[in-house]
Amino acid sequence: MGTFFIELYTQCAMHNEPLILFFGDRLFLLPFLAVFVFFSLWLTSGSGENQKGEMMNNVHTTPQLPPIDHQPKAYQGPSFEEVAAMRKRYLTPALLTYYKKPLMIVEGHMQYLYDDTGRRYLDGFGGIVTISVGHSHPYVMQKARQQMELLQHTTTIYYHPAIATYGKMLAEKMPGDLSVCYFVNSGSEANDLAMLMARLYTGNYDLVSLRNAYHGGSASTMGLTAHSTWKFNYPHSFGVHHALAPDPYRGPWGRDDPEAGLKYAADVKSLIQHVTPGTVAGFFAEAIQGVGGSVVYPDGYLKHAYAHVREAGGLCICDEVQTGFGRTGEAFWGFEAQGVQPDIVTMAKGIGNGAPLAAVVTTPRIAETLAARIHFNTFGGNPISCTIGKAVLEVLEKENLQQNCLEVGGYMLDGFRTLMDKHDVVGDVRGKGLMTGIELVKDRSTKEPATQECARVWERAKDLGLLVGKGGFYANVLRVKPPMCLTKPDVDFLIEVLDIALGEV
Ligand code: PMP
Repeated sequence: MGTFFIELYTQCAMHNEPLILFFGDRLFLLPFLAVFVFFSLWLTSGSGENQKGEMMNNVHTTPQLPPIDHQPKAYQGPSFEEVAAMRKRYLTPALLTYYKKPLMIVEGHMQYLYDDTGRRYLDGFGGIVTISVGHSHPYVMQKARQQMELLQHTTTIYYHPAIATYGKMLAEKMPGDLSVCYFVNSGSEANDLAMLMARLYTGNYDLVSLRNAYHGGSASTMGLTAHSTWKFNYPHSFGVHHALAPDPYRGPWGRDDPEAGLKYAADVKSLIQHVTPGTVAGFFAEAIQGVGGSVVYPDGYLKHAYAHVREAGGLCICDEVQTGFGRTGEAFWGFEAQGVQPDIVTMAKGIGNGAPLAAVVTTPRIAETLAARIHFNTFGGNPISCTIGKAVLEVLEKENLQQNCLEVGGYMLDGFRTLMDKHDVVGDVRGKGLMTGIELVKDRSTKEPATQECARVWERAKDLGLLVGKGGFYANVLRVKPPMCLTKPDVDFLIEVLDIALGEV
């Protein structure tokens, strides 16, 4: 069709003849011309919202998502306005909703999401770092469906092969003698259980956590979390003490200081000496602070901090809720980059690719302490979650997704550095693999947080088809943690969008 119109144009131009004469014996082609003209007009008019979003990209220089085969189903549920009204009327007012005009997301396909109008977005946040292998990954869905048709729930009072085989598979992914798994349903539950284990095992009560950490929103884990944003004004944090955040961008020791890890860790020792009885139950730290704005600790930090904690009789607990399962690219677990071996590892989010699955993995000796009573969790380790967990591990391996995080994440970080060269508002870019952040500042020397600017970039990125997270204590960090199946063409789109959005603030 396109060739025909080119020919038509050149013929007319060459012979300087009116269109109707050119058609001559080809009059039968006129209906095709009419359809073409109508379609062009329709695209540039207000109709066909979703197609317009994508097709306008061809007309203008708006960044264009890589083409894919997937066709979203037409959404037929309650309208956007009806959903908004029901949310307002029947759901807790404590819910956080992204964007001035919230999005209603009704379908997902691998690294993409679709709203109720059928518009496609690149998901740069993966359901808050939860989609590991991809939205509605076909293999995971197939396994879940098969299990659902057989058996959904019994609890652990009966044997079931899924929990046993999954426990074995997960334990085989852990270094050293971290080989006993407890399955729960959320990251908060996993950390809550780890708090209990550490206290029971050591006979100590005090715990050390880090400022700028996020470990959960339940009554107990809210104590570990150290952002006023997430802490309600009620008695909290009893027995939990927060050490200096080892943040080489905002903290007193930067990336240029080879001793930074040692110096930040000294604060853990000082805290134990001054605000605890000198003995502690344990130390909680994420491998990279996620909600806190993708803060990567200086080299050696965890090694030194763990040594101080162990000297005070405590256990070292690593929260791999965001960083686990290969997301950091260089290793399967985030702590491996710091050269440490935790006593307890907690995991959630990416473990289940969206299923309510979380786990605590520890050593047989530590696990033994919980045998003093029955520890029960109704949904923990249910056949469906465990089947999904197994399928996720299989896909991670089959599709080489840790390696993909390394390669595509490295490519993305290079892109972020280019953005930093171009836009003064970018104060810092950091991260590992597909666990990254871009911190925005008003002034690179004062590092004054550019909170409003960050919100504008984030909002504009959404308008251009890219969804990313926002975080850090000052809400001035763009958190980019997409599904691990992200591709380089996706990154090209993402960088183009951020370039435009950053250029506008
Ligand atoms: N730990 C970390 C590092 C997290 O990021 C989160 C959630 N953002 C949690 C724990 C709590 O997980 P959940 O919301 O599943 O309770």
